[in-house]
Parts: sequence; C-alpha cells; structure tokens
Amino acid sequence: MIMSEDKNLFDCVVVHYDEIGLKGNNRKMFEDLLVTNMKKKLGSLATSFRKEHGLIVVYPSKASGRQDIAEALSKVPGIAYFSFAIRSSRDMDCVSKCVIDYLASKEFETFRIYARRHDKDFPMNSLEINKKLGADVVEVYHKKAKMVGADMIVKVEVSSRSVYISSENIRSVGGLPTNSKQKVVSLLSGGFDSPVASYMMMKRGCEVILVHFQNENQMACSVEDKIVRIAKQLSKFQVVTKLYIVPFEELQKRIIMYAQADIRMLVYRRFMLKISLRIARDNQAKFLVVGDSLSQVASQTFDNLYTTYQNCEMPVFSPLIGMNKTEIIDISRDIGTYDISKLPYGDCCSYFLPKHPRLKSYPKQLDGIESRFEDIDALVDDAVKRARVTVY
Ligand code: ATP
Ligand code: MG
Repeated sequence: MIMSEDKNLFDCVVVHYDEIGLKGNNRKMFEDLLVTNMKKKLGSLATSFRKEHGLIVVYPSKASGRQDIAEALSKVPGIAYFSFAIRSSRDMDCVSKCVIDYLASKEFETFRIYARRHDKDFPMNSLEINKKLGADVVEVYHKKAKMVGADMIVKVEVSSRSVYISSENIRSVGGLPTNSKQKVVSLLSGGFDSPVASYMMMKRGCEVILVHFQNENQMACSVEDKIVRIAKQLSKFQVVTKLYIVPFEELQKRIIMYAQADIRMLVYRRFMLKISLRIARDNQAKFLVVGDSLSQVASQTFDNLYTTYQNCEMPVFSPLIGMNKTEIIDISRDIGTYDISKLPYGDCCSYFLPKHPRLKSYPKQLDGIESRFEDIDALVDDAVKRARVTVY
C-alpha cells in the first residue's frame, strides 16, 4: 500500500473509460490503445496495468506520488474518471476489513456504501453488499448511514479478480484514446479559440499537429514564447506533439501588394490553409482543423467562411463552429490555456488590416487575387521549408 502526500492509502488506480464501453466488437482495440497511451504518459510512475471487466487497474510504482499520477491521468483522452483505491480479495470478510481500515484515516459524520458489480457472477448483489458493509461501518464507527447527501461515499467495485475500495472520482478528458493513425493538422493562433479547437480533436482520438504562422515583425519573441507555452500545455493531452512555426512575413508582404485591405484577412487564411495542407500531407494527416466559430468575427461570417474553405484540397474541421465565446472560454479555463491565451501579443492576422473588413466575399474574388501570384506552389514550398519544427 502507498501512503500518499495527503495520508490517503492506495494500492492502485481504478480507471473508468468513457465511450469505449459502447464500442461492441472494437472495444478490445480501444482498450489496448488506451492502455498503451496511459503507459507512455505515466512512464516510471506505473509498474503494471490490468484490464478487468470494463475497468483498467493501474498499479503505481512505490515512489510515485498521488499528485503526479492524478496530473497525468486527468489529461488522457478516453478516460472518463479514475479513483485511487485499495484492493481487497473477493472474500466479504476481507472486503469489510478493508473498508473499515480505509475509513480509519477519514473524517465523516454520515456515509453511504455504493457497491457496483462489474462481475455479475459475484454471489451477493449490490444491495446486499451495501447492507452488509453499511452495518459493519455503523458497528465500528457509530456513524450514520445516509442515502442522500452523505459526507462520505465509499465506492466498492467488484471485478472478476478483486474488489476495489475508493471514495473519490477524479474527472479526466472523456472521449476516445489518441490514435496516432488519425492525424490532423490544427492551425494554432495565440487566441482563445484555436487551442480549444485543437483540444476538441484530441478528445475525439486524433493526434493533433500544431501549426502557427508567425510574422517576425510582431514582437516575435513574446509571440513565440506564447505559442510554445500553449503547445506545451496542449501536449499534456497527447503522447507526441509536433509544433511547426512557419515564418509568414514575406508572404504577407506579397499579399498586401496584391489584395485590397478589406479582404486581406481571407487571403491570409487561404494561404495558411494551403501551407498547412502541405504539412498535413508530409505527416500523413487527413484533415485540417481551425478555431472558427460561425459569425464570431468578420472573417468568420457565413459567406467569408465559405470563401475561405471553398478551394482547400483537404477537408477542414471547425470543432467550435456552433459554440458561443463563453462556452469556448470555459473550456480554455478547464484545459489550462486561458491564462496563456490572454497574454498580450500581436497575431500576424492583425498585420495591415482595416478597421472595417468585408463581411461578404465570393470565392471568385479570392481566386482572382490568388491568380496574381504566379508562384503560389513555390511560395508554399518555401514557407514549409523555413518552418521550425519542435516535438514535445
Ligand atoms: P483564435 O482565438 O483561435 O485566434 P480568432 O477568433 O482570433 O481565433 P481568427 O484570427 O479569424 O479568429 O482566426 C481564425 C482561425 O484561423 C484560428 O482559430 C486559427 O485556427 C487560424 N489562425 C488565425 N491566425 C493564425 C496564425 N497566426 N497561425 C495559425 N493559425 C491561425
Ligand atoms: Mg486569432
């Protein structure tokens, strides 16, 4: 048994997954993927992993602290929640003794036993387990059982091999485990939205490659520092995170020459998609991801988004398209990018832009502007070549 910093005893961590449970015949594949990802994230913090009846039980190494384990597991897509637990054999006397021991270090006035049989062959049903253990706790501690609003809920989970006792569910990401074969390239600005969009794709099982377009004229150091910090924060949610920082200044100068001010932003964005597409192909990624939310700003009106995505040769996901800003901000707080995103910086998109950008545009207008560039492929090639790539 490991005594944690807060004097809580635990033998193992019981991990509950999210949608994997609904996966029918593919369940084993998803479980294996989740175990592989957990192994990589926990590294030396864990010694072994066991799949038991819809649970994954993680055995920590002796020296590992509860906080380090919780920090890692709370950021693994596919995990719904997890609990630090003590393990008992399936013998009811032993379970009762473990529950009594478990409660010895806890302060509570009222309690409830919440038994769950993951293995339905166990000889007692949940109600019988609740009754038996509840009576034992009353006898030893003279505390009151309370069905609703108890101070202490003791979870007793019966699997095919053991019984796990815990009292706290720690929330994780939910969704599905990262599958490195499902690569997407996400366009990451320094704002609030695109880090959340990237996270949303991670939550759905994608490996997200991050691409930032940088105008070196604009306080390059602070922008880069900010982007690196966002990328590092996002990297906690997947196994490998590649960040591309693409110099965009030269291209922007050309765009400024060829495109009138009120439509420049859309030209920037279409070039960003073209360059990202090349990066996606180089990495066998199949989709691009952006942080657009319909009508949030002028460049994201219905018509402008149509113009922006219209000639892109790879499908574009916009996971925030139907979300309000407040909903996006709430998620950014939750995932730890809010405080970094709110730092001041000059995004390259604000470079030479008018006060009143156009709200309506047509693909033909943009096609016309782009046809003035005789060497688009070379410009894209050059930008990709000059990109700086870091892996976290
Ligand atoms: P965000 O909060 O993500 O910056 P925004 O509301 O500021 O979004 P825009 O500046 O119009 O919106 O950008 C829309 C999307 O275009 C971003 O969410 C991002 O996916 C992409 N994008 C914009 N600027 C950049 C950039 N400099 N590098 C990479 N992607 C960018
Ligand atoms: Mg932005």
